[in-house]
Amino acid sequence: LSTGAAGRQGDLLIAERGRLRPPALIVHGGAGLRRAEELDDEHRRGFDAAVRRALAVGWHALERGGDAVAVAVEAVAALEDSGVMNAGRGSVRTSEGTVEMDAAVMGGAARTLGAVAGVAAVRNPVRAARYVLDDGNWAFLAGPAADRYAIGAGGEPAPPGWFRPTAGAAAANAPASDTVGAVVVDGRGHTAAATSTGGVPGQVPGRIGDSPVAGAGLWADDRSCAVSATGTGEVFLRAAPAHHVHLLLRAGSHGEPASELLDACGAALDEVVALGGHGGLIALTPAGDYALAATTPLMIRGFLSADHPATVRLFAGA
Ligand code: ASP
Repeated sequence: LSTGAAGRQGDLLIAERGRLRPPALIVHGGAGLRRAEELDDEHRRGFDAAVRRALAVGWHALERGGDAVAVAVEAVAALEDSGVMNAGRGSVRTSEGTVEMDAAVMGGAARTLGAVAGVAAVRNPVRAARYVLDDGNWAFLAGPAADRYAIGAGGEPAPPGWFRPTAGAAAANAPASDTVGAVVVDGRGHTAAATSTGGVPGQVPGRIGDSPVAGAGLWADDRSCAVSATGTGEVFLRAAPAHHVHLLLRAGSHGEPASELLDACGAALDEVVALGGHGGLIALTPAGDYALAATTPLMIRGFLSADHPATVRLFAGA
């Protein structure tokens, strides 16, 4: 694992890259504008524990023979269940006090996709997305019908009182994290990406951000890489950074792969910044080259691979 700036940094406050020996798993718990001094030890420990648990759960799925899609889903489901991230249990509230969650998962082997938006009855939106992917007839379901579909397919309903009313970014004095995601390369060299969010605090009911939208909030294609995004959803929808990274990699400059990947993430985030947005990306190739890039001081992230123990970072270099 090597970290530090590669060729370009531009507007990036976090720019890391390296190579992990597959199988490998990287998760994120959102990008944010908070600085290190604004995060107290209790929240730091909470995020650290949630990321470590997600890495352990994902690795366990790998050891049980799970493919990249299964591992991405399990890792993200663990983050959803943590209650300290803005996804699943810790989802923020809309302007009407309701929970509306979005999630998607994409497999890079055949660019399979499952996505749900505006779900409120399932415990794990990313598992709902997985049911859609596995069905194969549909790619994206929304609203109460998506909840019914997922529960009909075997998804666990959220237990009564499951959602934390003041969790995530809604808590006035709690330094919250944001959207969560994972990128995976499994032992066969297949990639997957998953992203899950409660949206933005106080959003108008019905609002859908970038997180469940392929090309914006995630992308996976074994010919390039898997990407999961976090940031200002309205801008990410217009800049499609996850697909941008894919296209740049496909064009290829034949340089050092991890540097090329970081350059691609930086270029995709330049478009986000140009439209007034901010956020971060995690990206991982089938060979295990990875990049982490964010225009924000905070991006909660963790890695685990065949040749690297679980590592968690919150801010630039730490
Ligand atoms: N992208 C998410 C959304 O707009 C929010 C985030 O990543 O913080 O729903």
